[in-house]
Amino acid sequence: MNVKVRFAPSPTGFLHVGNVRTALVNWLFARKNGGYFLLRIDDTDAGRSKSEYTAAIREDLRWLGLDWDGEEHQSQRFESYREAAEKLRTSGRLYACYETPEELDVQRKMQTSRGLPPIYNRTALKLAAEQKKKYAADGRQPHYRFLLNDEEIQWDDLIRGHTHFRATHMSDPVLLREDGVPVYTLASVVDDGELAITHVIRGEDHVSNTAVQVQLYQALGFAVPQFAHMALLKTKEGELSKRLGGNDIRALREAGILPMAVNSLLARIGTSDAVEPFLNLPALTEGFDFKKFGRAPAIYNPEELHKLSAKLFRSLPYETVREMIKDHPQKNHFDKKLWDKIHSNIKTLTDLNDWLDILFRESFDRERLTEYQELLHEAARILSDEIPEGAWTDATWKQWIALIQQHFESRGAPKKGKDLFMPLRLALTNKLDGPELKDVFLVLGEHGYAKDKVSSRLYFTSRQVSYGGKPY
Ligand code: GLU
Repeated sequence: MNVKVRFAPSPTGFLHVGNVRTALVNWLFARKNGGYFLLRIDDTDAGRSKSEYTAAIREDLRWLGLDWDGEEHQSQRFESYREAAEKLRTSGRLYACYETPEELDVQRKMQTSRGLPPIYNRTALKLAAEQKKKYAADGRQPHYRFLLNDEEIQWDDLIRGHTHFRATHMSDPVLLREDGVPVYTLASVVDDGELAITHVIRGEDHVSNTAVQVQLYQALGFAVPQFAHMALLKTKEGELSKRLGGNDIRALREAGILPMAVNSLLARIGTSDAVEPFLNLPALTEGFDFKKFGRAPAIYNPEELHKLSAKLFRSLPYETVREMIKDHPQKNHFDKKLWDKIHSNIKTLTDLNDWLDILFRESFDRERLTEYQELLHEAARILSDEIPEGAWTDATWKQWIALIQQHFESRGAPKKGKDLFMPLRLALTNKLDGPELKDVFLVLGEHGYAKDKVSSRLYFTSRQVSYGGKPY
Protein backbone atom coordinates (compact mmCIF):
# COMPACT_ATOMS: atom_id res chain seq x y z
CA MET A 1 0.00 0.00 0.00
CA ASN A 2 1.33 3.41 -0.97
CA VAL A 3 0.70 5.47 2.15
CA LYS A 4 1.04 9.25 2.44
CA VAL A 5 -0.27 11.02 5.53
CA ARG A 6 0.00 14.48 6.96
CA PHE A 7 0.04 16.10 10.37
CA ALA A 8 -1.47 19.56 9.99
CA PRO A 9 -1.10 21.76 13.06
CA SER A 10 -2.05 25.44 13.06
CA PRO A 11 0.90 27.46 14.39
CA THR A 12 -1.24 29.42 16.80
CA GLY A 13 0.12 27.88 19.99
CA PHE A 14 2.35 25.18 21.39
CA LEU A 15 1.62 21.53 20.67
CA HIS A 16 -0.30 19.85 23.45
CA VAL A 17 -0.84 16.18 24.13
CA GLY A 18 -3.96 16.10 21.93
CA ASN A 19 -2.14 17.38 18.84
CA VAL A 20 0.81 15.16 19.50
CA ARG A 21 -1.38 12.11 19.70
CA THR A 22 -2.61 12.92 16.18
CA ALA A 23 0.97 13.46 14.99
CA LEU A 24 2.11 10.22 16.58
CA VAL A 25 -0.71 8.10 15.18
CA ASN A 26 -0.08 9.50 11.68
CA TRP A 27 3.63 8.83 12.11
CA LEU A 28 3.15 5.26 13.37
CA PHE A 29 0.77 4.45 10.53
CA ALA A 30 3.18 5.91 7.95
CA ARG A 31 6.22 4.09 9.34
CA LYS A 32 4.37 0.82 9.76
CA ASN A 33 3.48 0.94 6.06
CA GLY A 34 6.78 2.31 4.78
CA GLY A 35 4.88 5.47 3.86
CA TYR A 36 5.42 9.23 3.78
CA PHE A 37 4.78 11.55 6.74
CA LEU A 38 4.20 15.17 5.75
CA LEU A 39 4.29 18.09 8.15
CA ARG A 40 1.74 20.61 6.92
CA ILE A 41 1.63 23.98 8.60
CA ASP A 42 -1.94 25.32 8.49
CA ASP A 43 -1.14 29.01 8.53
CA THR A 44 -3.85 30.54 6.34
CA ASP A 45 -4.86 32.76 9.24
CA ALA A 46 -2.06 35.33 9.06
CA GLY A 47 -3.33 37.18 12.12
CA ARG A 48 -3.05 34.24 14.49
CA SER A 49 -0.21 32.22 12.97
CA LYS A 50 3.29 32.86 14.33
CA SER A 51 6.63 31.64 13.03
CA GLU A 52 7.80 31.07 16.63
CA TYR A 53 5.08 28.46 16.97
CA THR A 54 6.11 26.77 13.73
CA ALA A 55 9.66 26.59 15.09
CA ALA A 56 8.33 25.22 18.38
CA ILE A 57 6.27 22.57 16.56
CA ARG A 58 9.36 21.36 14.74
CA GLU A 59 11.37 21.32 17.94
CA ASP A 60 8.73 19.35 19.83
CA LEU A 61 8.35 16.78 17.05
CA ARG A 62 12.12 16.33 16.91
CA TRP A 63 12.27 15.88 20.66
CA LEU A 64 9.67 13.11 20.38
CA GLY A 65 11.60 11.50 17.54
CA LEU A 66 8.77 12.00 15.03
CA ASP A 67 10.76 12.79 11.90
CA TRP A 68 8.96 14.03 8.83
CA ASP A 69 9.65 13.46 5.15
CA GLY A 70 8.55 16.84 3.85
CA GLU A 71 7.00 20.11 4.91
CA GLU A 72 4.35 22.36 3.31
CA HIS A 73 2.99 25.71 4.39
CA GLN A 74 -0.53 26.68 3.44
CA SER A 75 0.44 30.36 3.37
CA GLN A 76 2.61 29.54 0.36
CA ARG A 77 -0.12 27.73 -1.55
CA PHE A 78 -2.75 30.43 -1.96
CA GLU A 79 -2.47 30.26 -5.73
CA SER A 80 -3.65 26.64 -5.70
CA TYR A 81 -6.59 27.54 -3.47
CA ARG A 82 -7.63 30.41 -5.75
CA GLU A 83 -7.52 28.12 -8.77
CA ALA A 84 -9.62 25.55 -6.96
CA ALA A 85 -12.15 28.21 -5.96
CA GLU A 86 -12.31 29.35 -9.57
CA LYS A 87 -12.98 25.81 -10.68
CA LEU A 88 -15.85 25.50 -8.21
CA ARG A 89 -17.28 28.84 -9.29
CA THR A 90 -17.20 27.76 -12.93
CA SER A 91 -18.99 24.53 -12.15
CA GLY A 92 -21.65 26.38 -10.15
CA ARG A 93 -20.61 25.00 -6.77
CA LEU A 94 -19.38 28.28 -5.25
CA TYR A 95 -21.75 31.16 -4.62
CA ALA A 96 -21.47 34.65 -3.24
CA CYS A 97 -23.20 35.52 0.04
CA TYR A 98 -23.61 38.95 1.54
CA GLU A 99 -24.98 38.34 5.04
CA THR A 100 -23.13 39.97 7.89
CA PRO A 101 -22.23 37.83 10.92
CA GLU A 102 -24.98 39.63 12.87
CA GLU A 103 -27.60 38.80 10.24
CA LEU A 104 -26.52 35.17 10.25
CA ASP A 105 -26.76 35.12 13.99
CA VAL A 106 -30.33 36.43 13.93
CA GLN A 107 -31.21 33.85 11.29
CA ARG A 108 -29.86 31.02 13.43
CA LYS A 109 -31.68 32.24 16.51
CA MET A 110 -34.97 32.39 14.66
CA GLN A 111 -34.51 28.85 13.34
CA THR A 112 -33.66 27.52 16.77
CA SER A 113 -36.64 29.23 18.36
CA ARG A 114 -38.90 27.53 15.82
CA GLY A 115 -37.31 24.18 16.62
CA LEU A 116 -35.44 24.04 13.31
CA PRO A 117 -31.76 23.11 12.93
CA PRO A 118 -29.57 26.22 12.44
CA ILE A 119 -28.66 25.55 8.83
CA TYR A 120 -27.76 28.29 6.38
CA ASN A 121 -30.96 29.00 4.44
CA ARG A 122 -29.33 29.68 1.06
CA THR A 123 -31.01 33.07 0.69
CA ALA A 124 -27.96 34.24 -1.26
CA LEU A 125 -28.78 31.76 -4.04
CA LYS A 126 -32.00 33.62 -4.71
CA LEU A 127 -30.49 37.10 -4.81
CA ALA A 128 -31.34 39.04 -7.95
CA ALA A 129 -28.44 40.50 -9.94
CA GLU A 130 -29.79 43.96 -9.09
CA GLN A 131 -29.54 43.30 -5.39
CA LYS A 132 -25.96 42.00 -5.72
CA LYS A 133 -25.05 45.17 -7.58
CA LYS A 134 -26.56 47.24 -4.86
CA TYR A 135 -24.53 45.41 -2.20
CA ALA A 136 -21.39 45.94 -4.24
CA ALA A 137 -22.23 49.65 -4.60
CA ASP A 138 -22.70 49.82 -0.81
CA GLY A 139 -19.22 48.36 -0.43
CA ARG A 140 -20.39 44.96 0.96
CA GLN A 141 -17.81 42.34 0.04
CA PRO A 142 -19.19 38.84 -0.50
CA HIS A 143 -17.92 35.71 1.16
CA TYR A 144 -18.32 32.45 -0.76
CA ARG A 145 -20.02 29.21 0.13
CA PHE A 146 -19.77 25.75 -1.33
CA LEU A 147 -23.07 24.41 -2.62
CA LEU A 148 -23.53 20.97 -1.12
CA ASN A 149 -25.29 18.34 -3.20
CA ASP A 150 -28.38 17.14 -1.39
CA GLU A 151 -27.35 13.57 -1.00
CA GLU A 152 -26.18 11.06 1.54
CA ILE A 153 -22.45 11.40 2.27
CA GLN A 154 -20.71 8.28 3.47
CA TRP A 155 -17.33 6.74 4.07
CA ASP A 156 -15.84 3.73 5.80
CA ASP A 157 -13.89 5.20 8.63
CA LEU A 158 -10.90 3.15 9.76
CA ILE A 159 -11.89 3.78 13.37
CA ARG A 160 -15.58 4.71 13.36
CA GLY A 161 -16.63 2.21 10.74
CA HIS A 162 -19.37 3.11 8.28
CA THR A 163 -20.19 6.79 8.77
CA HIS A 164 -22.90 8.75 7.01
CA PHE A 165 -24.34 12.25 6.98
CA ARG A 166 -27.25 13.81 5.13
CA ALA A 167 -26.05 16.88 3.30
CA THR A 168 -29.49 18.44 3.77
CA HIS A 169 -28.75 18.57 7.49
CA MET A 170 -25.64 20.66 6.99
CA SER A 171 -24.89 24.28 6.12
CA ASP A 172 -23.09 25.06 2.89
CA PRO A 173 -19.61 25.79 4.24
CA VAL A 174 -17.88 29.11 3.70
CA LEU A 175 -14.75 28.59 1.58
CA LEU A 176 -13.58 32.15 0.96
CA ARG A 177 -13.77 34.96 3.47
CA GLU A 178 -14.79 38.51 2.55
CA ASP A 179 -11.13 39.45 2.15
CA GLY A 180 -10.72 36.60 -0.36
CA VAL A 181 -8.68 34.43 2.04
CA PRO A 182 -9.50 30.73 1.66
CA VAL A 183 -10.52 28.97 4.85
CA TYR A 184 -9.21 25.70 6.18
CA THR A 185 -12.04 23.61 4.71
CA LEU A 186 -10.96 24.42 1.17
CA ALA A 187 -7.21 24.68 1.74
CA SER A 188 -7.06 21.31 3.43
CA VAL A 189 -8.87 19.51 0.61
CA VAL A 190 -6.75 21.16 -2.09
CA ASP A 191 -3.59 20.16 -0.22
CA ASP A 192 -4.73 16.61 0.42
CA GLY A 193 -5.72 16.30 -3.24
CA GLU A 194 -2.69 17.91 -4.87
CA LEU A 195 -0.22 16.32 -2.50
CA ALA A 196 -1.85 12.91 -2.98
CA ILE A 197 -2.61 12.21 0.68
CA THR A 198 -3.94 8.67 0.97
CA HIS A 199 -5.16 8.72 4.58
CA VAL A 200 -6.49 11.60 6.67
CA ILE A 201 -6.03 10.74 10.34
CA ARG A 202 -7.35 13.30 12.81
CA GLY A 203 -9.58 13.91 15.81
CA GLU A 204 -13.26 13.19 15.91
CA ASP A 205 -13.94 16.92 16.16
CA HIS A 206 -13.37 16.97 12.39
CA VAL A 207 -16.04 14.42 11.46
CA SER A 208 -18.52 16.98 10.17
CA ASN A 209 -15.72 18.76 8.28
CA THR A 210 -15.02 15.44 6.66
CA ALA A 211 -18.62 15.17 5.51
CA VAL A 212 -18.42 18.42 3.55
CA GLN A 213 -14.87 17.80 2.48
CA VAL A 214 -15.86 14.50 0.86
CA GLN A 215 -18.07 16.46 -1.53
CA LEU A 216 -15.28 18.99 -2.05
CA TYR A 217 -12.70 16.37 -3.04
CA GLN A 218 -15.25 15.04 -5.52
CA ALA A 219 -16.20 18.47 -6.89
CA LEU A 220 -12.51 19.24 -7.46
CA GLY A 221 -11.87 15.91 -9.13
CA PHE A 222 -9.58 14.53 -6.42
CA ALA A 223 -9.55 10.97 -5.15
CA VAL A 224 -11.24 10.88 -1.76
CA PRO A 225 -8.67 9.73 0.83
CA GLN A 226 -9.45 7.19 3.52
CA PHE A 227 -10.32 8.58 6.93
CA ALA A 228 -9.60 7.64 10.50
CA HIS A 229 -11.17 9.81 13.21
CA MET A 230 -9.85 9.26 16.68
CA ALA A 231 -12.04 9.72 19.75
CA LEU A 232 -10.89 12.83 21.55
CA LEU A 233 -8.60 12.97 24.54
CA LYS A 234 -10.21 14.03 27.77
CA THR A 235 -8.93 14.53 31.26
CA LYS A 236 -10.72 13.18 34.32
CA GLU A 237 -12.15 16.68 34.74
CA GLY A 238 -13.49 16.93 31.19
CA GLU A 239 -12.34 18.55 27.98
CA LEU A 240 -8.65 18.79 27.30
CA SER A 241 -8.46 22.52 26.87
CA LYS A 242 -5.82 23.83 24.51
CA ARG A 243 -5.02 26.42 27.08
CA LEU A 244 -4.77 24.01 29.97
CA GLY A 245 -1.26 24.54 31.31
CA GLY A 246 0.97 21.53 31.78
CA ASN A 247 -0.36 19.64 28.78
CA ASP A 248 1.92 21.50 26.41
CA ILE A 249 4.62 19.21 25.18
CA ARG A 250 7.27 21.70 26.14
CA ALA A 251 6.01 21.85 29.70
CA LEU A 252 6.42 18.07 29.87
CA ARG A 253 9.90 18.36 28.43
CA GLU A 254 10.80 21.05 30.94
CA ALA A 255 9.51 18.82 33.73
CA GLY A 256 12.06 16.24 32.57
CA ILE A 257 9.56 13.62 31.32
CA LEU A 258 11.17 11.24 28.83
CA PRO A 259 9.90 11.61 25.25
CA MET A 260 9.28 7.87 25.01
CA ALA A 261 7.00 8.12 28.05
CA VAL A 262 4.89 10.60 26.08
CA ASN A 263 4.96 8.41 22.97
CA SER A 264 4.21 5.24 24.91
CA LEU A 265 1.17 6.77 26.58
CA LEU A 266 -0.26 8.60 23.59
CA ALA A 267 0.09 5.64 21.26
CA ARG A 268 -1.85 3.40 23.58
CA ILE A 269 -4.55 5.36 25.41
CA GLY A 270 -7.92 4.88 23.83
CA THR A 271 -6.84 1.56 22.32
CA SER A 272 -7.41 -2.02 23.42
CA ASP A 273 -3.68 -2.41 24.13
CA ALA A 274 -2.38 -1.86 27.64
CA VAL A 275 -0.31 1.24 28.30
CA GLU A 276 3.27 0.08 28.73
CA PRO A 277 6.66 1.76 28.60
CA PHE A 278 8.41 1.43 25.24
CA LEU A 279 12.06 2.25 24.87
CA ASN A 280 11.87 3.24 21.23
CA LEU A 281 9.44 4.05 18.44
CA PRO A 282 10.04 1.00 16.24
CA ALA A 283 8.81 -1.21 19.09
CA LEU A 284 5.59 0.84 19.22
CA THR A 285 5.20 0.85 15.45
CA GLU A 286 5.13 -2.91 15.29
CA GLY A 287 1.85 -3.28 17.18
CA PHE A 288 0.06 -0.34 15.56
CA ASP A 289 -3.40 -1.10 14.17
CA PHE A 290 -6.49 1.09 13.72
CA LYS A 291 -8.63 -1.88 14.71
CA LYS A 292 -7.44 -1.42 18.28
CA PHE A 293 -8.80 2.13 18.59
CA GLY A 294 -12.00 2.52 20.62
CA ARG A 295 -14.86 4.94 20.12
CA ALA A 296 -15.04 6.21 23.70
CA PRO A 297 -13.00 9.29 24.64
CA ALA A 298 -9.49 8.42 25.75
CA ILE A 299 -8.73 9.60 29.25
CA TYR A 300 -5.43 11.40 29.59
CA ASN A 301 -3.95 11.30 33.05
CA PRO A 302 -0.65 13.19 33.43
CA GLU A 303 0.27 10.99 36.40
CA GLU A 304 0.56 8.07 34.02
CA LEU A 305 3.29 9.97 32.20
CA HIS A 306 5.30 10.26 35.38
CA LYS A 307 4.83 6.55 36.07
CA LEU A 308 5.92 5.60 32.56
CA SER A 309 8.87 7.93 32.72
CA ALA A 310 9.94 6.35 36.02
CA LYS A 311 9.57 2.83 34.59
CA LEU A 312 11.57 3.79 31.54
CA PHE A 313 14.35 5.23 33.66
CA ARG A 314 14.53 1.96 35.51
CA SER A 315 15.19 0.09 32.30
CA LEU A 316 17.40 2.55 30.47
CA PRO A 317 20.97 1.39 29.97
CA TYR A 318 23.62 3.38 31.80
CA GLU A 319 25.20 4.56 28.52
CA THR A 320 21.91 6.10 27.34
CA VAL A 321 21.46 7.96 30.58
CA ARG A 322 25.04 9.20 30.56
CA GLU A 323 24.35 10.72 27.16
CA MET A 324 21.32 12.53 28.57
CA ILE A 325 23.33 14.30 31.26
CA LYS A 326 26.39 15.05 29.17
CA ASP A 327 26.05 18.77 29.87
CA HIS A 328 25.65 18.47 33.63
CA PRO A 329 28.56 20.07 35.55
CA GLN A 330 28.88 16.92 37.68
CA LYS A 331 28.77 14.49 34.75
CA ASN A 332 32.23 13.06 35.54
CA HIS A 333 30.94 11.58 38.78
CA PHE A 334 28.20 9.68 37.01
CA ASP A 335 29.34 6.09 36.83
CA LYS A 336 27.56 2.79 36.46
CA LYS A 337 27.77 2.02 40.16
CA LEU A 338 26.03 5.25 41.01
CA TRP A 339 23.37 4.71 38.35
CA ASP A 340 22.57 1.28 39.77
CA LYS A 341 22.13 2.87 43.19
CA ILE A 342 19.89 5.76 42.25
CA HIS A 343 17.97 4.63 39.19
CA SER A 344 14.94 3.49 41.15
CA ASN A 345 14.61 7.01 42.55
CA ILE A 346 14.51 8.68 39.15
CA LYS A 347 11.23 9.57 37.48
CA THR A 348 12.32 12.45 35.32
CA LEU A 349 15.45 13.95 33.90
CA THR A 350 14.98 16.74 36.39
CA ASP A 351 15.25 14.21 39.22
CA LEU A 352 18.49 12.92 37.78
CA ASN A 353 19.96 16.39 37.40
CA ASP A 354 18.91 17.14 40.97
CA TRP A 355 20.53 14.02 42.30
CA LEU A 356 23.84 14.77 40.63
CA ASP A 357 23.66 18.24 41.95
CA ILE A 358 22.83 17.09 45.44
CA LEU A 359 25.47 14.40 45.58
CA PHE A 360 28.40 16.19 44.05
CA ARG A 361 27.83 19.86 44.19
CA GLU A 362 30.86 21.58 45.59
CA SER A 363 29.67 24.80 47.04
CA PHE A 364 26.59 24.94 49.18
CA ASP A 365 24.88 28.01 50.45
CA ARG A 366 25.73 27.60 54.12
CA GLU A 367 24.65 31.03 55.24
CA ARG A 368 20.97 30.15 55.40
CA LEU A 369 21.73 27.25 57.76
CA THR A 370 22.92 29.54 60.52
CA GLU A 371 19.60 29.59 62.32
CA TYR A 372 19.54 25.77 62.49
CA GLN A 373 23.09 25.30 63.68
CA GLU A 374 22.19 23.76 67.02
CA LEU A 375 20.06 21.06 65.43
CA LEU A 376 22.52 20.37 62.63
CA HIS A 377 25.55 20.12 64.83
CA GLU A 378 23.73 17.79 67.20
CA ALA A 379 22.67 15.66 64.23
CA ALA A 380 26.30 15.50 63.06
CA ARG A 381 27.57 14.63 66.53
CA ILE A 382 25.02 11.82 66.91
CA LEU A 383 25.99 10.47 63.53
CA SER A 384 29.67 10.27 64.35
CA ASP A 385 29.42 9.24 68.01
CA GLU A 386 26.32 7.11 68.30
CA ILE A 387 25.75 5.41 64.96
CA PRO A 388 27.82 2.26 64.69
CA GLU A 389 30.30 1.89 61.83
CA GLY A 390 29.21 -0.19 58.86
CA ALA A 391 26.98 0.03 55.82
CA TRP A 392 23.96 2.27 56.17
CA THR A 393 20.49 0.82 55.90
CA ASP A 394 16.94 1.98 56.49
CA ALA A 395 17.52 1.10 60.11
CA THR A 396 20.50 3.47 60.28
CA TRP A 397 18.30 6.32 59.08
CA LYS A 398 15.54 5.48 61.56
CA GLN A 399 18.00 5.23 64.38
CA TRP A 400 19.64 8.51 63.56
CA ILE A 401 16.34 10.39 63.38
CA ALA A 402 15.13 8.76 66.60
CA LEU A 403 18.31 9.71 68.46
CA ILE A 404 18.08 13.31 67.29
CA GLN A 405 14.48 13.45 68.47
CA GLN A 406 15.32 11.92 71.83
CA HIS A 407 18.08 14.42 72.33
CA PHE A 408 15.83 17.42 71.80
CA GLU A 409 12.96 15.93 73.71
CA SER A 410 15.14 15.36 76.75
CA ARG A 411 16.00 19.04 76.62
CA GLY A 412 12.33 19.95 76.64
CA ALA A 413 12.52 21.31 73.08
CA PRO A 414 11.11 18.51 70.94
CA LYS A 415 11.70 18.65 67.20
CA LYS A 416 9.53 16.92 64.69
CA GLY A 417 8.04 17.23 61.23
CA LYS A 418 9.08 20.22 59.24
CA ASP A 419 11.16 21.69 62.10
CA LEU A 420 13.32 18.62 62.00
CA PHE A 421 13.39 17.56 58.38
CA MET A 422 13.54 20.90 56.61
CA PRO A 423 16.89 21.96 58.11
CA LEU A 424 18.31 18.47 57.56
CA ARG A 425 17.16 18.56 53.96
CA LEU A 426 18.59 22.00 53.41
CA ALA A 427 21.90 20.97 54.89
CA LEU A 428 22.19 17.70 53.00
CA THR A 429 20.78 18.78 49.65
CA ASN A 430 20.92 22.57 49.60
CA LYS A 431 17.30 22.50 48.47
CA LEU A 432 13.92 22.77 50.09
CA ASP A 433 12.40 19.98 48.05
CA GLY A 434 13.58 16.99 46.10
CA PRO A 435 13.96 13.27 46.58
CA GLU A 436 13.03 11.46 49.78
CA LEU A 437 15.51 12.58 52.39
CA LYS A 438 16.04 9.02 53.54
CA ASP A 439 17.12 8.06 50.03
CA VAL A 440 19.54 10.97 49.85
CA PHE A 441 21.01 9.94 53.18
CA LEU A 442 21.41 6.33 52.10
CA VAL A 443 22.87 7.14 48.70
CA LEU A 444 25.35 9.54 50.24
CA GLY A 445 26.29 6.73 52.58
CA GLU A 446 26.38 4.00 49.97
CA HIS A 447 28.35 6.05 47.55
CA GLY A 448 31.29 6.32 49.89
CA TYR A 449 30.09 9.58 51.28
CA ALA A 450 29.19 8.16 54.61
CA LYS A 451 29.81 9.87 57.87
CA ASP A 452 32.55 12.27 56.90
CA LYS A 453 30.82 13.79 53.97
CA VAL A 454 27.41 13.86 55.54
CA SER A 455 28.86 15.33 58.69
CA SER A 456 30.67 17.99 56.75
CA ARG A 457 27.37 19.03 55.22
CA LEU A 458 25.78 19.21 58.63
CA TYR A 459 28.68 21.07 60.18
CA PHE A 460 29.00 24.29 58.39
CA THR A 461 31.16 27.30 58.58
CA SER A 462 29.50 30.61 58.81
CA ARG A 463 30.88 33.97 59.72
CA GLN A 464 30.23 33.31 63.40
CA VAL A 465 30.99 29.64 63.77
CA SER A 466 33.76 27.48 62.52
CA TYR A 467 33.86 23.84 63.47
CA GLY A 468 37.18 23.12 61.97
CA GLY A 469 35.78 20.47 59.63
CA LYS A 470 36.41 21.23 56.00
CA PRO A 471 33.27 22.74 54.57
CA TYR A 472 31.82 20.59 51.85
N1 GLU B 1 -5.23 22.54 11.19
C1 GLU B 1 -6.26 21.61 11.45
C2 GLU B 1 -6.31 21.35 12.94
O1 GLU B 1 -5.31 21.57 13.61
C3 GLU B 1 -5.99 20.34 10.70
C4 GLU B 1 -7.08 19.37 10.68
C5 GLU B 1 -6.82 18.27 9.66
O2 GLU B 1 -6.08 17.36 10.00
O3 GLU B 1 -7.31 18.37 8.56
O4 GLU B 1 -7.32 21.00 13.49
